[in-house]
Amino acid sequence: MAGLVSALVFAISITGSILQTASAAQEGTEKAAVKRLPTYFPNTEELRADEMRITALGTGLPTPTTRAQKSTAWMVELGNGDIFIFDIGSGSMENLFGLRPDFSRIDKIFLSHLHSDHFGDLDAFIVGSWLSGRYTPLHVYGGSGETPELGTRAAVNHVVKALAWDIKGRTGALPDAGGQVIAHEFDFKQENQPVYEKNGIRITSWPAIHSLDGAVSYRLEWNGLSFVFGGDSRPNKWFNKYARNADFAIHECFPTPAGLAAFNDWKMRPATFVTSYIHTPPQGFGKVMSAIKPRMAVAYHTVLLPDIHQSMLEGIRKTYDGPLTIATDLMVWNVTKDNITMRMASFPDRVTPPSTTEAYKNAPRSGEAKMSKYVMDGVWKGFTPPPLPKE
Ligand SMILES: [Zn+2]
Ligand SMILES: [Zn+2]
Repeated sequence: MAGLVSALVFAISITGSILQTASAAQEGTEKAAVKRLPTYFPNTEELRADEMRITALGTGLPTPTTRAQKSTAWMVELGNGDIFIFDIGSGSMENLFGLRPDFSRIDKIFLSHLHSDHFGDLDAFIVGSWLSGRYTPLHVYGGSGETPELGTRAAVNHVVKALAWDIKGRTGALPDAGGQVIAHEFDFKQENQPVYEKNGIRITSWPAIHSLDGAVSYRLEWNGLSFVFGGDSRPNKWFNKYARNADFAIHECFPTPAGLAAFNDWKMRPATFVTSYIHTPPQGFGKVMSAIKPRMAVAYHTVLLPDIHQSMLEGIRKTYDGPLTIATDLMVWNVTKDNITMRMASFPDRVTPPSTTEAYKNAPRSGEAKMSKYVMDGVWKGFTPPPLPKE
């Protein structure tokens, strides 16, 4: 099977479109019950019961996000109906919303660390998903820090505190429970211990080496398939041990030191430190993937400008010759035990919110928020709003 997958040949154009020569993928698609189009159009196809769909919601850098590449976020949808989000970096909510998912089913986010390019859209997600179908509390998982103030619980609770006005103001119009956010902080030092276990899904974590204590990576196991999400890190012994033989392994891959120096207009020392001491440059990424041997190796945290993309590909290929994707936003992979196919998702720039469920419409609401007499005395009598319906 490794041979079949390695027969996939991907060429990624730097404009974001995909030139795909995927004879093996197409063969597999034809064998499948559903005939799939070469482009993924959201909400037009069912996931098979044994299948995993992975969508890149953000693959870029924090400096800054661009229209082509938002900061880190990944969505994993499973054939049993469960959905998981790994990181929710700045700008990524635009891509998630464009897919028009059923937000009533998205209530779990796993954070690799607390850089804003990995959780900067948590506020946008809390509010946007609540407005668009989520009527149960949001659960956010992540590691502890060197001190409690540097841990996931403190960060999430502070985001919620910053949203106090926003959340209180929407309560009543929106389901009460959807305004709740529950932080699940675990010891970042634990190695390969479950941080989530439900419905036959097991998610484990292990430490990463990045900026400060507290960064982690994750592995999701379900139905004999494994998805690994490496948060920012320089190559580390834990990843090489616990990501081994994954079906789908994501690991960050920075530009080369010279590439980052040119991109940021930095000196070589900070560019070398950032790319190679707290992140992973292309040759390091290739070495990691050669060690863990996934069915599909995926690089992200990139800037896909032509010269940088070329130097990254050349760097990776010096140390790794297996199946590889350098990811850009809105790539979509369908993973089964027999096949891995890759497509680009397509949707218009302007979309309507997804439909909500009856459960969302009927979920308990505590009554619209009130303003003071001072403000309400300012109502202009020249306009009379329509009467409020009972429901
Ligand atoms: Zn980071
Ligand atoms: Zn990052």
